[in-house]
Amino acid sequence: MLLTRRSTLDRVLDARVRTEPGVTLRGGATVRGLLTEGGTPPRVTGVRLDDGALAADVVVDASGRRSRVDDWLADAGARPRPVVTADCGLAYYSRHYRLRTTDGLPGRADNRTILPLDEFVAGMWGADNGTVLLGLCPLAEDHRFRVLRDPEVFTAVFDTVPGLRGWLDVLDPVGDMFPMGGLHNTLHRLVDAAGPLVLGLHAVGDGVCTTNPTLARGLGVALRTVLDLVDVLAEHPRDPLARALAHDAAITEGVEPYYVDQARTDAARLARVRGVLHARGVLDGRPATPAAPAGPAPSAARVGFDELSAAAFFDAALFRTAASVRGMLVRPEAVYTDPAVVARVREVQAAHPAGVPAPAQPDPDLLAKALAAAV
Ligand SMILES: Cc1cc2nc3c(=O)[nH]c(=O)nc-3n(C[C@H](O)[C@H](O)[C@H](O)COP(=O)(O)OP(=O)(O)OC[C@H]3O[C@@H](n4cnc5c(N)ncnc54)[C@H](O)[C@@H]3O)c2cc1C
Repeated sequence: MLLTRRSTLDRVLDARVRTEPGVTLRGGATVRGLLTEGGTPPRVTGVRLDDGALAADVVVDASGRRSRVDDWLADAGARPRPVVTADCGLAYYSRHYRLRTTDGLPGRADNRTILPLDEFVAGMWGADNGTVLLGLCPLAEDHRFRVLRDPEVFTAVFDTVPGLRGWLDVLDPVGDMFPMGGLHNTLHRLVDAAGPLVLGLHAVGDGVCTTNPTLARGLGVALRTVLDLVDVLAEHPRDPLARALAHDAAITEGVEPYYVDQARTDAARLARVRGVLHARGVLDGRPATPAAPAGPAPSAARVGFDELSAAAFFDAALFRTAASVRGMLVRPEAVYTDPAVVARVREVQAAHPAGVPAPAQPDPDLLAKALAAAV
């Protein structure tokens, strides 16, 4: 497994792209809209920039989760993008650090440790060049944790996590806090039941699908959608209708199953954490955010993602299988209903009825004190 900061990946990609013949990079240019020709559906012929227009045979929306493409489609008279969403329910507070030493580390700095605590998720993600990301992910609706955007509070709360606090002794912060809220699982399409919304436009990455960042599938989705687009362009160089349909079919095949998997897994986790918080009186009086449908129940013929992940803790073969599902190498449903996987998970469950040892929880008084440290 290779863990790296996004900024490092971008630098490597940028340097590689600059060696490609025929590529012109225009940094700092903001796309303001689409150039289109009328028709049914309209045809995209380029993009509008602040300082003029850029004609193109094919336009790719790679502008991320806050893509303005819906507005641009409306301007073009096109139908809106079909979208499905499911709340991941998390806020995500993170900060990059640099290792001060390589001796006496509390764990492997090139790996990640993610602890699903009763009230929030805490994690460390190793990265490149001696850097590490520390993160705390409470429920977005648990307003006690909004103070985590203050670096001192973030450090104080991280210090209450028994399984991870040792990292603070060997790390120096680099950069500011990154607070992210409003995280959703989303799946957008550029084709609806009546066909493509426009011709000549494709989307990749977060512009197609966002998923709960704690499972780290963002890069997988980006690469999957890009590689599929490369194939589709090669197969249909002169037929934009065939291209639109083929790229959408690839999304159905290679992205949608992971969106569905994530939405179900998140629904189950949200229900669990909300149950704990309600029982402890934390969310009392606050209306619960609706959760996505939880999906099929585990049965003799099917295991769920959480069951597979728990069994993977004890079994090397299941560990590889679970990693393949997380890493988008195999379709989740094919694994969950594979008779050999189901049988092995049930064997492991029988051999370890107590399940995965729960991580040590923060001391409630220390946690309350840490949260109160905000100025
Ligand atoms: C808190 C958090 C943690 C995450 N952790 C992980 C992880 O550990 N592993 C993982 O794989 N994924 C992770 N993800 C997801 C990952 O960040 C995204 O999936 C990935 O960045 C998507 O790449 P993208 O290129 O589609 O979009 P983005 O990275 O959002 O890039 C879009 C680019 O388009 C530019 N842009 C936008 N609008 C315009 C415009 N009009 N004109 C010109 N340029 C424009 C933006 O400036 C930006 O540079 C995380 C996400 C979040 C929110």
